[in-house]
Amino acid sequence: MAFPEVLKRVIANLAALPGLGEKSATRLALYLLGRPEVEIRELAQSLMALRQKIRLCQRCFNFAEADFCALCLDPARDPEVICVVEDPADLAAIEAAGVYRGLYHVLHGLLSPRDGLGPKEIRLEALAQRVKDENIKEIVIALSPTVAGEATAAYIAQMFKKTPVKLSRLACGVPMGMDVKYADRITLKRALEARQPF
Ligand SMILES: [Zn+2]
Repeated sequence: MAFPEVLKRVIANLAALPGLGEKSATRLALYLLGRPEVEIRELAQSLMALRQKIRLCQRCFNFAEADFCALCLDPARDPEVICVVEDPADLAAIEAAGVYRGLYHVLHGLLSPRDGLGPKEIRLEALAQRVKDENIKEIVIALSPTVAGEATAAYIAQMFKKTPVKLSRLACGVPMGMDVKYADRITLKRALEARQPF
């Protein structure tokens, strides 16, 4: 390619991102080259801040800028209900539906023994500990209805079978095989409102 090294480096870095091929990376790099310096600096600094400032909430493992996330620190949330989700994007989708008022527990994965993901790796031990420590009354399982999601949901149900905690799950409406984060707001709202005992 006839581009200078600096430009080639940006293109290579962009092309390494998911969903961006060589062509779109080149287009994006050329676009960025044409933007004012202040805009580029803001972009670069926001990316650095992402790496430096975002960590996981010590309680629910949602993204946080301090030890605890904004949701865990919100006194208006019901601390006796925990909604179990696969990742922060699912949490964001449920928040956008606007009906759920409890707390969360973010697994950052689903059970997958083949990939070395056991109960400890996806923070199910931490969930058990929270239920013990925090006087939790209900766990809402909001995992995607995929094979791994179903297996993880079944495992969680088994974990709390002998405890007084009420287990529920999203009502049908989130189609089989669909990811929670891609369900539309209305569907998620209905699925939460009509959640069923598990
Ligand atoms: Zn939290």
